[in-house]
Amino acid sequence: MIFGGIQKLSLLDYPNRTACTFFTVGCNFYCPFCQNSSLAHPVGRMQTISVSEILSFLQKRQGLLDGICISGGEPLMHDELDIFIKDVKALGFLVKIDTNGSLPDSLKNLVKSGDIDYVAMDVKNALEKYPLTIGLPEYDTTPIEESVAFLLSSKVPYEFRTTVVREFHTEGDLLSIARWISGAEKYFIQGFVDSAGVPQHGLNGYSNVEINEFLHTIKTILPTAQLRGY
Ligand code: SF4
Repeated sequence: MIFGGIQKLSLLDYPNRTACTFFTVGCNFYCPFCQNSSLAHPVGRMQTISVSEILSFLQKRQGLLDGICISGGEPLMHDELDIFIKDVKALGFLVKIDTNGSLPDSLKNLVKSGDIDYVAMDVKNALEKYPLTIGLPEYDTTPIEESVAFLLSSKVPYEFRTTVVREFHTEGDLLSIARWISGAEKYFIQGFVDSAGVPQHGLNGYSNVEINEFLHTIKTILPTAQLRGY
């Protein structure tokens, strides 16, 4: 498997844990607001990090970090991910995985292996707006619905999260999501911040006041909803 980046210390990526984050290369979605597009869809040659380099780095961090986050791109696209995770677990680290939820069979297999300690799944938008939001106009949302249903009924700790972009999300969309994932342990509404690498230019987030009004309404359906990054 191919990694394209590493964050050697993060106090935010893994809830209540010190961790480092590894970023896999490649994604099957084309979100117009992607903050990691150079990893999701690299153009030309890029510097990569091998599994052996990562394991060697982790050996030096034993006892210093609680866990690792595997982010992307979409980590579940990589066939050797389960082997990599077993190697990391053997070194004594907790493992969190970030996913877009498009590969429910891989997600289920990993969770059922017992090697995953935390799952963070993006819920990109209300179901009817998924194709537009992920940049795939013909997308069938069945796999996403399967992943959401699996996590809702699973014992693995998890969170759902939505990055809210003014041009893609309305309050009504967020309410639709809240109804869909009703009963979720944790749901985070994350602010969008524009940057040079975002594929579609000119996108905007909502103001603090606006998003707090949204949250107030969403909490009537999903009391576990919280803001992140506001
Ligand atoms: S799923 Fe994530 S990594 Fe993939 S394109 Fe969308 S935002 Fe980027």
